[in-house]
Amino acid sequence: MTQTLLPGELTLPQAQEHLRRHLTPLQEMVQVPLCHSWQRILAQDVSAPRAVPGWDNSAMDGYALRHADLQQATPLPVAHTLLAGAGMPPPLPPGQAMRLMTGALIPAGADTVVMQEQVTLHEGAIRVQPGQRLGQHIRRAGEDLPLGGVVLRQGQRLGAAELGLLGSLGLADIPVVRPLRVALCSTGSELVTLGQIPGPGQTFDSNRHTLRALVGALGFECLDLGVIPDSPEALRTALSSAAGMADVVLTSGGVSVGEADFVKPILQELGQIQFWKIAMKPGRPLAFGTLGAARFFGLPGNPVAVMVTFLLLVRPALLQLAGMNPVPEPLQCAVRCTQNLKKALGRMEFQRGIVARNAQGEWQVSSTGNQGSGVLRSMSQANCLIVLPAACTQVAAGDLVDILPFSGLS
Ligand code: AMP
Ligand code: MG
Repeated sequence: MTQTLLPGELTLPQAQEHLRRHLTPLQEMVQVPLCHSWQRILAQDVSAPRAVPGWDNSAMDGYALRHADLQQATPLPVAHTLLAGAGMPPPLPPGQAMRLMTGALIPAGADTVVMQEQVTLHEGAIRVQPGQRLGQHIRRAGEDLPLGGVVLRQGQRLGAAELGLLGSLGLADIPVVRPLRVALCSTGSELVTLGQIPGPGQTFDSNRHTLRALVGALGFECLDLGVIPDSPEALRTALSSAAGMADVVLTSGGVSVGEADFVKPILQELGQIQFWKIAMKPGRPLAFGTLGAARFFGLPGNPVAVMVTFLLLVRPALLQLAGMNPVPEPLQCAVRCTQNLKKALGRMEFQRGIVARNAQGEWQVSSTGNQGSGVLRSMSQANCLIVLPAACTQVAAGDLVDILPFSGLS
């Protein structure tokens, strides 16, 4: 079904596609020690300078032997005990077995490992249960990483498994893209900062704390520019200095069409900006463009809208700018909804949900309740967003709905 949009409105996928097409990744490479490379993005392909494992070795505690020797019914004398890390073993004499531990090298002549549980030892010789396969329980040299093969590609973000892989290759210094620098500020004359006492109608700034955490969780550098009042002069000064310091400038608030919403005129004066109305809830107004050499994202002011637009639009954009390639689509899956949900026709909606197992062990999702875009508690209670398509107007209890788990956004 095609979606009916208001004049000038974009669908969320259209906005996401626009960002994908207009963001050029950073190129600058730095070498960092492996222990500091977590969440960094590879600036080059990494090939294996050695095979992993380096030698054929045992996958079990047991006995190395020649499979052909199992044809005879006679017990095999145990010649030797081999431990992991004990170096190159002597060759296996014909008609004998060697005891060996997991990780010990396979002696020349042996072609099979038998688990110790399938052996009886009597007077220094073993009898082996039938049914052993030729070549079993040997980890072959290079079966994890063959010598010279590309192990990780440029654009890969380094997580726990990748750090282990790089460590297993003995690589101490890793070529990564320099970290993305993100400057952020909150805008709004009603906002006060920690330590101040709010007067009537004033409110503590929460968005900067949220955004600092969201940016920090991606491993980027964060420059916190504080709270900027709704005044053209203050915004002009703050945004032009931010643009000189950072790759990306992020603001919240002031992007609507209220009388104190100065982000639009100031950005049009200082940079090249597109104002978007996105057919999504929360988070309809959003600004995107360039400020000097920096990219600019002007998020809405409501705290839930800040988080949702960050996760769906800014996060993938930042990862792409930081050099990640490909930026994977976040995990989304369908589960049953425990209750009726309502929504207006025409906008894609992201309601806050709690996904958990029911008494039968099936995953199901419930709403956190009040879905106001100022109710930040809903994001704290939720562990997923319930994704409701534009054309949907209601969900009945027991219907399948798509969810976007927060744990898929690490
Ligand atoms: P705006 O988009 O500037 O009109 O803001 C929309 C709503 O979000 C208003 O109620 C603001 O007070 C609130 N808001 C804007 N920025 C922040 C912030 N940094 N922290 C908490 N609330 C905010
Ligand atoms: Mg405002």
